[in-house]
Amino acid sequence: MAFEQTTPFLLYSDGEGNIFEDETLYAGGRSGWDAGPVPDEDWIPLPEGGSMYELPGRRGIGIDVETGEMRLCDKGWAVAAFIPPAHTGLFIAAYETEEDAPTLPLFCYTAAGWMNDGFYVTALRIEQDIRQEAAGYDDEVIESGVKHFLEAYPKNRLVKHLAENCCLTYHCPAARNFFIGRWECPVPSSPACNANCIGCISFQPQEETIPSTQDRLTFKPTAEEIVEFTVPHLESAPFPIVSFGQGCEGEPLLMWETIAEAIKEIRKHTQSGSININTNGSKPDAVKILCEAGLDSIRVSTNSARKHIYEKYYRPNNYSFEDIVESIKVVNSFGGWTSINYFVFPGMTDSFEEYEALRKLIRETGLKMIQWRNFNIDPDWYLGKIGHTDTGEYMGIKLMMQKIRDEFPELKFGYFNPPMERIKGDFQHDFAHA
Ligand code: SF4
Repeated sequence: MAFEQTTPFLLYSDGEGNIFEDETLYAGGRSGWDAGPVPDEDWIPLPEGGSMYELPGRRGIGIDVETGEMRLCDKGWAVAAFIPPAHTGLFIAAYETEEDAPTLPLFCYTAAGWMNDGFYVTALRIEQDIRQEAAGYDDEVIESGVKHFLEAYPKNRLVKHLAENCCLTYHCPAARNFFIGRWECPVPSSPACNANCIGCISFQPQEETIPSTQDRLTFKPTAEEIVEFTVPHLESAPFPIVSFGQGCEGEPLLMWETIAEAIKEIRKHTQSGSININTNGSKPDAVKILCEAGLDSIRVSTNSARKHIYEKYYRPNNYSFEDIVESIKVVNSFGGWTSINYFVFPGMTDSFEEYEALRKLIRETGLKMIQWRNFNIDPDWYLGKIGHTDTGEYMGIKLMMQKIRDEFPELKFGYFNPPMERIKGDFQHDFAHA
């Protein structure tokens, strides 16, 4: 009977962008600081839109096909996968880092392998909404959309920023959807931030060797500029959402006066769609004012439900973990939708300590949704920076999700902010899907 392979072979690169499989080693995975085998059922074919990265100065750790022993691959650099949105990584790539290895840029590094003539990754699809499917973007449609909007709003600095920087330079999926006239429209507004996240994607201090993936907004839009393009979007787009708080800015709550004024003005013109804010949740008092103005939904970003892990990463100015908890409670008290943008890091997120802290956070705040997002950061750099030498016992991301799901059956899982149709309607069906 033909041998059926169930575990992918380890991948390595020649350092020039060429990737090969090593048929003497099965691919493993990493949680926290530990490398080990991955359950066969946790491997899926690399989803469309994913990409493979070679990791300079790092040697892959695999399982010897003959002996079952863990050992290094000395044929080349380690390889990892950047998995596309709507998928959550279950294991980090397993590798050993050499002394002088460069810090890796701000992407996720999911365990990957080769099997059945294809790339495999350790991940699961956590979200059925197709708003950021790679196949859903047509460059010609986007370019004509950009041309149309720039002509329609010639003096609007924000539309110009979204067009030239976000859409055409950073290829931001949310900005591209805006110029196609559908789904979630991004509304960045704040050039400043009151946190100092180690892995900030819009600002990296000079002394760090890695670049921020986007440059931070350099101006403060007016409420008029915001209202001018968001009202037509809410009135015409399918499953419309406008979202304050984007990767190309600081903290939107520092612009609460302008955002409150904009929300009030928007709701004078239309009741359609959802008005959401992606935020670090640092100012519950400002959140209250935004809810009074008409905010429908909040997504608070966090790397952990544990105060000490959160504050070591966010390095907050004049606010604390308790403030972000309070912000979620405030929106719930207004009947709004509440999500956390939960940075998933295998070995940390699924540790027993984190699991207990997350249960407490859900119970305390009445949280409605967890967006299980991949943590885009160099794993060694992150754990080193927060001084975490031992991640403790962990249960596996899949098991943790199941335990949370069993205990909180009303709590929704996903990857994107839900449209009002999904919030008010059938959560399992009322959204953009194939
Ligand atoms: S809250 Fe956002 S903008 Fe502020 S430092 Fe953190 S990642 Fe950067």
